[in-house]
Amino acid sequence: MLTADPAEVGSVLSGELAGRVLTAPESTERYRFDQSLGSTAGYPAAVVLAAGRNDVVTTLAIAQHLRIPVVPRGAGSGLAGGANALDGAIVLDLAGMDRIIGIEPRARTAVVEPGVLNAALDLAARTHGLRYAPDPGSKEISTIGGNIATNAGGMCCAKYGVTRDHVLQVTAVLAGGQVIEVGRATRKDVAGLDLRSLLVGSEGTLGVIVEATMRLIPVPGRTSTAAVTFASPAAALDAVLAMTAAATPSTLEFLDRTTVRAVNRSTRMGLDEDAGATLVLQCDGPHAQADLEACADLARASGAWDVFVAHDEEDGTALMQARRMALPALEQLGSVILDDVCVPVHRLPEMQVRVEEVAAALQVTIGSFGHAADGNLHPTIVFDAADDRARGRARTAFDRIVEAALDLDGTVTGEHGIGGLKTAHLDRQVGSVERALMRGVKQAFDPFGILNPGRGY
Ligand SMILES: Cc1cc2nc3c(=O)[nH]c(=O)nc-3n(C[C@H](O)[C@H](O)[C@H](O)COP(=O)(O)OP(=O)(O)OC[C@H]3O[C@@H](n4cnc5c(N)ncnc54)[C@H](O)[C@@H]3O)c2cc1C
Repeated sequence: MLTADPAEVGSVLSGELAGRVLTAPESTERYRFDQSLGSTAGYPAAVVLAAGRNDVVTTLAIAQHLRIPVVPRGAGSGLAGGANALDGAIVLDLAGMDRIIGIEPRARTAVVEPGVLNAALDLAARTHGLRYAPDPGSKEISTIGGNIATNAGGMCCAKYGVTRDHVLQVTAVLAGGQVIEVGRATRKDVAGLDLRSLLVGSEGTLGVIVEATMRLIPVPGRTSTAAVTFASPAAALDAVLAMTAAATPSTLEFLDRTTVRAVNRSTRMGLDEDAGATLVLQCDGPHAQADLEACADLARASGAWDVFVAHDEEDGTALMQARRMALPALEQLGSVILDDVCVPVHRLPEMQVRVEEVAAALQVTIGSFGHAADGNLHPTIVFDAADDRARGRARTAFDRIVEAALDLDGTVTGEHGIGGLKTAHLDRQVGSVERALMRGVKQAFDPFGILNPGRGY
């Protein structure tokens, strides 16, 4: 696709967007990778630090004219390589477009620019007695634009759903610079085909999100949290099935022993390291305490060793923070490749067994944790990057885990996206007719293939 040399791209962009274009390799370096390990990245011709919608329009018009690929970028916290630079591309950084344009408490909506951090939106909503529910582990650092583009999940999806369920309207810029508005800031909307849903989870391949109207919900009032330990992952996951069948916890997170030990090492949380697995569980709403007790009873009936109920919200927040530390804590043990697979929840026990079998067969360390109520696991392979053979085994383990999820009627990614990491795996999940339809949609939105080419599908 590349038809202009990088120096020309930089100088054309700088002519239109003075002061907001980086071209020197030492300043573009930090925009090359997201947080995924094991992904590859190219060297961009330029990075545009967009300050407003017009900058995005200008960039995309120039890119299409020169036939230069554009990689949209939020905070770069992605775990699939979707925001990684491509050779000769323009990285379009949207983090600086971080205004909360307005909150309408009566409609329970917020209008935001794409660079607003997830946690900042939640905080602003709380001043109106509302909250922004989707809460990825990265909520303090990831942007709403990135969350929409990846259809991010998180801890409380068990009860409140994923990002898609909280996006009402999206304004996006198409390749070439045309601005579109899809969806409506209403609670219901069935007018025409649902283009808004196509943009959600499109990983920067269809349009660049420059504004969105997000749904807010009332603050639940009470929240009760517990940590429950079990002799084995199998017992913990049996308890998950009992709880999801009979109750609706807002959070139900699984941590295996390897993960708990890593969290203890990096936080001194003092979680029980002898347990085979731990569940962190939260209920909210007016009957939070009673709901939590009911879940605890179900856990005991499934053979729980111990139920530790947090005394107050502060203790509860600490337990949730321990769960949020799972990935950073495992990263302290060595290099990691984080997987993201999702299976029908009743097949989760089998999925965890398959993860353990992969670890044993390949002699690799895998810390497994994730959003158990959604059937979404993040088996994280820890390895020594300096050892070629260990690196090869880690990569094989990653692939076998994805294959296992497909064997169990699951998906190759529950929430992190395909990015540049899982395009090959998508072939087994999605048939050739469906894949052709996806490519047809791409062609309709982006006929010259400018936007994040090769990513997603
Ligand atoms: C510690 C940690 C915990 C995490 N926990 C979770 C979790 O619980 N659940 C979860 O789902 N993810 C999680 N993630 C992954 C990541 O935070 C999410 O994928 C997040 O949504 C990415 O947001 P971002 O702003 O960093 O986007 P980026 O990484 O910058 O980009 C991600 C993708 O979105 C595209 N994109 C970004 N902005 C736009 C835009 N404005 N318009 C069009 N396309 C755009 C990019 O091209 C790329 O394909 C975690 C990551 C870390 C590091």
